[in-house]
Amino acid sequence: MPQRTSITNPSSLEVLAEGGASKTENEEGGPQVGQRWKVAWRDGTVHLAEIVDIRKAEGSSDAATASAAAKAGSTERGKKAPGTAAAGGEPSRSSSAGGGGAVYVHYVDFDRRLDEWVGMERVDLAAGQQRAVAHHNGDKRRVTTRMKRKYDEMGSKSGHGGGGDREGLDANIAMLEKEHEEITKVKNVQSVLLGKFEVETWYFSPYPDDYSKLDKLFVCEFCLKYMKRESTFTRHRQKCTMRHPPGDEIYRETAEGGQGCGVSVYEVDGKTNKVYCQNLCLLSKLFLDHKTLYYDVDPFLFYVLCEVDDAGAHIVGYFSKEKSSPEEYNLACILTFPPFQRKGYGKLLISLSYELSKREHMVGSPEKPLSDLGKLSYRSYWTYVLMNMLRDYKGELSIRLISNMTAIKTEDIISTLQSLNLLRYWKGQHVIAVSHTTIDECLNKSSRFKLCRPECLTWPVELED
Ligand SMILES: [Zn+2]
Repeated sequence: MPQRTSITNPSSLEVLAEGGASKTENEEGGPQVGQRWKVAWRDGTVHLAEIVDIRKAEGSSDAATASAAAKAGSTERGKKAPGTAAAGGEPSRSSSAGGGGAVYVHYVDFDRRLDEWVGMERVDLAAGQQRAVAHHNGDKRRVTTRMKRKYDEMGSKSGHGGGGDREGLDANIAMLEKEHEEITKVKNVQSVLLGKFEVETWYFSPYPDDYSKLDKLFVCEFCLKYMKRESTFTRHRQKCTMRHPPGDEIYRETAEGGQGCGVSVYEVDGKTNKVYCQNLCLLSKLFLDHKTLYYDVDPFLFYVLCEVDDAGAHIVGYFSKEKSSPEEYNLACILTFPPFQRKGYGKLLISLSYELSKREHMVGSPEKPLSDLGKLSYRSYWTYVLMNMLRDYKGELSIRLISNMTAIKTEDIISTLQSLNLLRYWKGQHVIAVSHTTIDECLNKSSRFKLCRPECLTWPVELED
């Protein structure tokens, strides 16, 4: 969240000085790109929003797309509405963008997954343009500073060598600027058909140009090939023989007592199955804001989680991992696709990443920055593991020992304990101070966890015979 806002929402301080747009501008014909206007969210509450793009009305095909998109926006569930705690919110009843065209807006201080096309009737034209318009140079400068910091954090990443060399730094900043550009783009694909689900997308993804501006993208859930037309897709489904991801099945959990479905995880090598992994990255970018990896998949392994039934192994999520990480990252990207969220799969993937680290006799940590959802998942996973250990372990525990047993990096243990206010500094050392009541309270909150079962993991694959 903090990284998000620092990169996309110009903080007010610097910006206010530049603000003060004159009232005359809005009299010349409504919102312009880059301005901030008051916009009604789908539940009717009004929020400050930045205009990202504009589509005129008057019978153009663009306007038709815009109005379809504005409507699609109101069907999504699971999103937190600005200013309300309710998920889903009340769909806007007035999305007839018919007469007045539409604007693509970013709600200031909210995640970009809430960006959407709205009909002009949802823009408060009477209130006019709001102060504090982002000043372009100011914005860019701030982004660059943040990117430099990110580059410094990355150090000499994965053999790209020359930690301090000027050329490398410039190249990386250019790359990060490109990333910034892409995350601030207008969504290009509005929804995607994946298996039996039609899913509304969250963010821009760099699909080839002739695939952008699609209302619906068709994706084969087994080979992840993407198609523009339903007819092509139908033909592909008849021909495609894949029924599970490529690579080795490393994890299999059968359905409990014949209830629900089993789950499997496949380890897919980015080098061996390049196209599959590139397609996976493109697809997942529709739901991930921060992500630089699309085409250079060789240095990564992908762990693809599937629900298994008679029809095959249906992808529900994945995480990627660098084959070798000097920074001890044990996970690069993690995603559960929206139809499968809130079923505990995120925690299963996180716990699997630590299980792999344990078997490598390593400690690990997720690559930063984490998305807002990723951060929440990790925080609650760490809390759960630590509280269980504090409750059950007989004997004296040190942070080092906890780290060795859980494969969680010491800094993540310390930050988790600090966030729970359980860490005291005593005689020059960190000491964990916790009562049984606190432990029980924390564990009650996280009772529905579904972690991976180590006995279901057959990894490393080489060791079996
Ligand atoms: Zn296929």
